[in-house]
Amino acid sequence: MKSIKYYAFPSSVKEAMSLLLDRKYKAMALAGGTLVAKTLPDSVETYLDLKNVPIKGIKLAGGNLVIGAGATFDEIDRSKLCRSWAGGVISSAAAKCSSQLVRNMATIGGNIARPHSFNIFPVLLLGLDAKVRFACKTGTKLVDFQDLYSSGAGLRPGLDCLITEVIIPAKTRKWGCEFIKLAKTESSWESYIKLFFAVEKKGKFFAQARIAVGALSPRPFRAPAAEKALAAGETPEACAAALAAELAAARAGDYRCAAAANLLKRFVKSV
Ligand SMILES: Cc1cc2nc3c(=O)[nH]c(=O)nc-3n(C[C@H](O)[C@H](O)[C@H](O)COP(=O)(O)OP(=O)(O)OC[C@H]3O[C@@H](n4cnc5c(N)ncnc54)[C@H](O)[C@@H]3O)c2cc1C
Repeated sequence: MKSIKYYAFPSSVKEAMSLLLDRKYKAMALAGGTLVAKTLPDSVETYLDLKNVPIKGIKLAGGNLVIGAGATFDEIDRSKLCRSWAGGVISSAAAKCSSQLVRNMATIGGNIARPHSFNIFPVLLLGLDAKVRFACKTGTKLVDFQDLYSSGAGLRPGLDCLITEVIIPAKTRKWGCEFIKLAKTESSWESYIKLFFAVEKKGKFFAQARIAVGALSPRPFRAPAAEKALAAGETPEACAAALAAELAAARAGDYRCAAAANLLKRFVKSV
């Protein structure tokens, strides 16, 4: 914080980008401000406050659900569109953020800008096949969420580019989903494990399945063997055993493996 000399309030993405890319300011984006001070590199001299930049809206576009990067957890929780999408899982996941104070300030853009083991949205967005739109030096860029944290993406969000939108594809609108934060208390940011389960039902069968796992590593990951078992119509017990084996391979430990397996069985029976 000692290195901060300037505070800027751009009012458009264009203005924000020109400040961010102007080397003389050494700027870093700030949205809700709940995390940025903890992760501030010494080299940064300007806070680029995004609060006046119009990237907060939540809308439908081309059948997709588009959430502005500046939307807060609370706005996402209360959004009618989010509540009606995929059984309301996006809103219910937002509501699981630790406290109302943080939910009022923290944004989805800030939540996904850097990998963090306990953040909620990376797990959800991985499971929903989301895409992320950036404003960058060369214009705009659309990145699959699953590639966001790979070095190949070549992006340093908040330092040389801005997240402007998160796009949830139309195909997920009717998916049956559940987001689980298994933690000591509801108000914990930390959790033993975070799980996202989703299936697309076709009659008695599941046409597609997604399982995303968080809290075990900064980057969430999918559980492809358990997804395959679900889509192949295997028994809840077989799907659960496949998930437990994948988590054991990820060194999740006995408690998390057993809990996740039981939670998947419950999901399959309820969906
Ligand atoms: C007490 C406490 C409890 C918390 N509990 C939870 C919890 O339960 N669940 C959870 O998921 N998280 C939790 N968090 C983490 C944090 O609040 C979230 O990660 C939050 O979403 C960050 O968003 P922000 O808008 O405050 O980001 P900021 O703090 O403003 O910024 C964080 C980072 O993101 C970058 N950034 C922000 N917006 C953009 C953008 N549009 N484009 C590019 N880069 C951007 C910034 O440059 C910075 O590097 C908690 C934090 C605290 C302090």
